[in-house]
Amino acid sequence: MRLSRAFLPTLKETPAEAQIASHRLMLRAGMVRQTSAGIYAWLPLGWRVLQKVEQIVREEQDAAGAQEILMPTIQTADLWRQSGRYDAYGPEMLRLKDRHEREMLFGPTNEEMVTDLFKGYAKSYRDLPRNLYHIQWKFRDEVRPRFGVMRGREFLMKDAYSFDLDCTGAQKSYRQMFVAYLRTFARMGLKAIPMQADTGPIGGNLSHEFIILAETGESQVYLHKDLLEFDVLSRPVDYDGDLSPIVDFWTSRYAATDEKHDEAAWAQVPGESQVSARGIEVGHIFYFGTKYSAAMGLSVNGPEGKPVVPEMGSYGIGVSRLVGAIIEANHDEAGIRWPDAVAPFKVAVLNLKKGDSATDALSERLYAAFAPDAIYDDREDRAGVKFADADLMGYPWQVVIGPRGAAAGKVELKRRATGEREELSVEDAITRIKGA
Ligand code: ATP
Ligand code: MG
Repeated sequence: MRLSRAFLPTLKETPAEAQIASHRLMLRAGMVRQTSAGIYAWLPLGWRVLQKVEQIVREEQDAAGAQEILMPTIQTADLWRQSGRYDAYGPEMLRLKDRHEREMLFGPTNEEMVTDLFKGYAKSYRDLPRNLYHIQWKFRDEVRPRFGVMRGREFLMKDAYSFDLDCTGAQKSYRQMFVAYLRTFARMGLKAIPMQADTGPIGGNLSHEFIILAETGESQVYLHKDLLEFDVLSRPVDYDGDLSPIVDFWTSRYAATDEKHDEAAWAQVPGESQVSARGIEVGHIFYFGTKYSAAMGLSVNGPEGKPVVPEMGSYGIGVSRLVGAIIEANHDEAGIRWPDAVAPFKVAVLNLKKGDSATDALSERLYAAFAPDAIYDDREDRAGVKFADADLMGYPWQVVIGPRGAAAGKVELKRRATGEREELSVEDAITRIKGA
């Protein structure tokens, strides 16, 4: 993208309504714009990040054996009456009427809909196990929408739903999602810690919240230091194999949110291994047995010819919240420091002398080498403006090209994460970035 033609409405002033760094930076970098309380339009820069986050989520869901579908945002009240949640959900649910006065709602989650959908297809135990997911906008009329996209009213969620013949199968599905989540967040450069959680309005008996540590987190969390040191990406995962060793590593060490915190168990953790911090919930997984399948009348013909009610779980990831959470974990005074995997553009090419033929030629060459994952600052602005914008928007690699260097075929390469700078030939700069 050429910056001279981009729709990138950056803000000079820090917006007064933004209380936390990620919200301020997303507004200042022109990533999103609030259209009404807790509802955001995603502008080109923000939209690119959201799509990159979404794609990582998708790849890891697919790898774990879940299958992508797309269910609608609008649902009928009847579905929710079957599970009893239409009244129970309360004012967080946005209720609508169509022209025939039929009661509808904007989905806050999809347990009812997916169970009903699956019911239309599953006849026998051979149709199990299955795991279906979608990445779709949700609406929850939060009492206090705040912190930008972190607690919005309309937000993008990945929600997966597993159907199994029995409890053993359901626990296997749960472990598959557990491991897929560890990998998903690690690929985004985040350390997300699974913590035992309350099951809340979804109901059920086994549940983990995945929490990343950040000072501005909404919950207080307590965990064993070992959990911060585990590198889940360093070994390949066989999702058909036994995942218990990985899951057990996490569940056998102390990690709890405030609600589940147990002082007696905490006291058993050696003092030097105790970490207490603030956390942001980025994912939440549940195993709830037959709660929805029974209520919605889902049953299949079992191996012995008797009807069996499938065991279910549901697995959410806050895709749009993650964009804010990643910034909370990766920023400094100057702006965002995107991890490579989710950066809106991997490379920024800064042309310091537009109109100088050698500088223009080198800049174009670099831009072409990385497009479409590069942004080219070809504006007429001062160098200082370009440096400040590139740091604010947080591109992992910046290539600075000025007339003096260009005459000698040299460019300056800057790594945003560390601030390191280096003068290199164009070829070496390209090789360096491609090899990283
Ligand atoms: P919270 O405790 O933060 O209100 P929740 O328990 O209501 O979240 P779930 O129903 O488990 O959320 O939804 C799955 C994921 O969706 C959460 O882990 C979170 O990352 C994300 N999420 C939930 N509510 C919001 C929201 N209002 N804005 C953005 N993301 C959200
Ligand atoms: Mg939750």
